[in-house]
Amino acid sequence: MKDKHNTKLKLIFEEKRAINLFLWLFYSFFIIFDIFYYYVLPKYTSYGQMGIPKEGLNYWQFILVFSMLPISIYKIKKGNPYPVKYFLLVSYILIDVIDNLMIYFGNSTKFASGNIVELVLIFFSPVFVNKKYFWSVSLGIIGKYIFLGVVLKTTDVLPPTVITAILSAIAYILLIRFYSYINTLTSVYEELRQKEKLAVIGRMSAAIGHEIRNPLSSLRGFTQLQQERYPNTNDFYPIMIQEIDRINSIVNDLMYIGKPRVIHYEKASIEEIIAYTLSITQQQAERQGVTVETIMAGPLPPFDCDEKQLKQVFINLIKNAIEAMTEGGKIEIRVKVIEKDKMSVSILDEGGGIADENILNLGEPFFTTKKDGTGLGLMVTNQIIKDHLGELNIDSILEKGTRIEVVLPIKHK
Ligand code: ADP
Ligand code: MG
Repeated sequence: MKDKHNTKLKLIFEEKRAINLFLWLFYSFFIIFDIFYYYVLPKYTSYGQMGIPKEGLNYWQFILVFSMLPISIYKIKKGNPYPVKYFLLVSYILIDVIDNLMIYFGNSTKFASGNIVELVLIFFSPVFVNKKYFWSVSLGIIGKYIFLGVVLKTTDVLPPTVITAILSAIAYILLIRFYSYINTLTSVYEELRQKEKLAVIGRMSAAIGHEIRNPLSSLRGFTQLQQERYPNTNDFYPIMIQEIDRINSIVNDLMYIGKPRVIHYEKASIEEIIAYTLSITQQQAERQGVTVETIMAGPLPPFDCDEKQLKQVFINLIKNAIEAMTEGGKIEIRVKVIEKDKMSVSILDEGGGIADENILNLGEPFFTTKKDGTGLGLMVTNQIIKDHLGELNIDSILEKGTRIEVVLPIKHK
């Protein structure tokens, strides 16, 4: 929440800087151009006539254009700099159209327009990195010339129209470059931040995990001893051991964050791994009225993997499938060889499915939609599959169910 607020403030700050620069250039060019056009040029060349033309808005043009300045500054100071550029653009075009109509309408003076100020307007679209502004400027100015051409019945508007179009094209290329540059920067920054976050959480979890594991294993040992010593006194020992194991598995999961594990490859049978997984999850499945069907496509070859880790993967996935089916149903596990050298295991459930906006977060540590979830299961699963150079594919339809496919290479190179 605070982050968003900060981003907004920074963006307003950037926009303010851009608009301030814009105002400076706009008014400087406006003044310099007019001095040059009405005083310098006529004095030293035969081009144009000395002084501001009497026909048009005359001094009113300056009064109007300069009256836009305090309004703009007021808007910026109030913390809403965004509309200022449109305000200047629209007012400027309106003033220019009126001025031109007053000068040229109903007489035969040769149309001469085009203004360096328009250049400032056009070339500020990449500075604002704003496509809407770009189209407003380009279409606004081109529209102005076409309108004047039609009303004044002259083709003299063609050169400035063409020049505006060419300059707009250049400004557009710049704008697009800026866009992609900024997008790249943002995504690189995001990635870095994500990695850094993971690294910090990873180090923290590893440190805590390490400290917890040893006392936990002695606690489990003593509990077991106690149970053996007094086998008939108390039913709570099995539950205590079960809960200690649960803590232990969470600690194990935590220690996976952000770092690859060493894998000890051995030949394993997928049938056995799945059978083991089902024996672990069976109780929970029964409690929730979930049945599991396993479909193996013919005899399956032994494959190279870290058996212990893969058991973890399938326990996580099947648990998720069971947990998704709050009202019971069927889970289908299909195992087959694909592309000759890959093992594909898909787990289909009839649970609530995964909302689109959550798909991207799957596998991020601590992402969970469950009341008592840890959000570590898929992260660990992902990591193990990545370590095995395999892939995890997720298809999900809301209210229908989810299909999760694990693809693993059969032979380890
Ligand atoms: P946890 O199970 O502790 O929530 P996971 O990493 O295992 O953490 O899963 C993260 C989230 O992904 C779950 O909270 C759930 O929203 C979603 N999810 C995972 N598997 C499924 C599934 N089979 N059906 C529906 N949602 C799922
Ligand atoms: Mg889970």
